Amino acid sequence: MSKSIDCQSKAVSGDVVIVGAGFAGLSAAERLVSTGLSVLVVEGRDRVGGRSLSGEVAGVDVDFGATWVAERHTAVRDLMARLGCSTTRQFDEGVNVLWMAGQRHTWTGTLPMVGPVDLADLARVQPALENLLESIDVDAAWKSPNAGELDSISFGEWLDRQQAATSTRALMAIVSKVQWGCSPADVSLLHVLRYIQAVGGLDHMLAVDGGQQQDRVTETTQEIAKRLAAALEDRVVLDARVRRICHDETGVTVYTDAAVIRARYAIVTAAPEHRAHIEFQPALPEMFEGLSRTFPMGALSKAFVAYETPFWRNDGLSGEAVTDTGPVFITFDVSPDGGPGILMAFCAPGCYDGLSPATRRNLVVKQLVDLYGAQAGNPIDYVDHCWGTESSAPGGPHPAAAPNASVRYGDALTRPHGRIHWAGTETAGEWVGTMNGAILTGVRAAEQVAALLSVESESST
Ligand SMILES: Cc1cc2nc3c(=O)[nH]c(=O)nc-3n(C[C@H](O)[C@H](O)[C@H](O)COP(=O)(O)OP(=O)(O)OC[C@H]3O[C@@H](n4cnc5c(N)ncnc54)[C@H](O)[C@@H]3O)c2cc1C
Repeated sequence: MSKSIDCQSKAVSGDVVIVGAGFAGLSAAERLVSTGLSVLVVEGRDRVGGRSLSGEVAGVDVDFGATWVAERHTAVRDLMARLGCSTTRQFDEGVNVLWMAGQRHTWTGTLPMVGPVDLADLARVQPALENLLESIDVDAAWKSPNAGELDSISFGEWLDRQQAATSTRALMAIVSKVQWGCSPADVSLLHVLRYIQAVGGLDHMLAVDGGQQQDRVTETTQEIAKRLAAALEDRVVLDARVRRICHDETGVTVYTDAAVIRARYAIVTAAPEHRAHIEFQPALPEMFEGLSRTFPMGALSKAFVAYETPFWRNDGLSGEAVTDTGPVFITFDVSPDGGPGILMAFCAPGCYDGLSPATRRNLVVKQLVDLYGAQAGNPIDYVDHCWGTESSAPGGPHPAAAPNASVRYGDALTRPHGRIHWAGTETAGEWVGTMNGAILTGVRAAEQVAALLSVESESST
């Protein structure tokens, strides 16, 4: 078998075809190539990186998708070191702003609470959530003790049962919007617990210093993917959406718009919902269809607003804000050293994506004026990105698994079917939902397939 696949011709063949050129697919390819196998990565979009995408505002590169790496994200940090990428500390000096129920407050720490009553309620609800985390098996949450019970209700119903105060609910709604791209009523409690436990608990999930938001990638996260793809040379093919995969005991035949690829194994890294956009012949067992149906992608949008300087720092503000009013619900300061001031705003797609670009910009700037004062009304540039409106593989950051979905269909995340193996961040145990998790799953699937190919070649000699 040749070391690389010639994709100039319409019909090509090799050892492994990988669907998707995000962190999972590219990492799987890198591992397989290192073992001497022939690989082709087919990507439906016209770019690599998947949910990592760079944009530009005021001449500065920004992350429309994945942004931060934690200290403990060692897989992504190892990859960055090999590819010459570096980190920049997330700016978090000063006090944060909370805009809740029409009132502006300032706060410090990880979780935004201001009054003693609110703090007391959070101090009651957060440990209750953390108690539940202890029993979660992050590698197979649906097999944890009490999994059936935990999966039978939504996160919102659980908050109801706790009689959580309005302030605690508002905070958890923001966590839900930013993590699963949905409201607490739309996501299973078990799914929420799985994601929180897999990233080291609620504090680690939400913290800047020592937490998941500690560092940004100086060159942008998509640049890591671009460098990894460049090293894979012509093994990565863009604009090649996979429409159909035929499979039998001898191999797989993958049909894209550009080519038909025959390989011995396939690794599919598309998110669960997007797996269903591929026609499998013969059809996959019902559990795989159920998974795609009940793990719909959430949606999230991001806006970047640039100013001559990060003026809020002069007022002792960190640029971090949480708000319950309007499309913007969180902001962060992502200004480069010595450059313009840039605020990154997470926006709720339901009241944002359908508006005209000018209206979106006006709404965001108006909210920033509420949060940071009149100077925020004079931006020098603006850009945004709505993940839910992407034409290919839309949505993100993560699926919002419905109640009862994980217990019924969770096994289908990772269970290979014949010669089809699965990777992608949704299939991760530890670090599910992160670039780090995606890399680990790509490597895992590559090693599984390489071991099977090795056994096959031994038995054929
Ligand atoms: C707004 C946002 C913010 C985020 N913030 C962070 C963060 O700060 N830190 C962090 O670690 N993570 C973050 N994430 C999550 C992170 O981006 C993902 O966990 C990670 O990039 C997933 O990688 P993946 O390879 O598993 O999937 P993807 O990146 O989704 O890659 C899958 C690829 O498969 C392709 N594909 C799908 N179907 C087909 C098909 N039929 N044929 C061909 N190709 C197909 C897709 O186009 C895509 O390129 C964020 C995500 C979003 C959207």
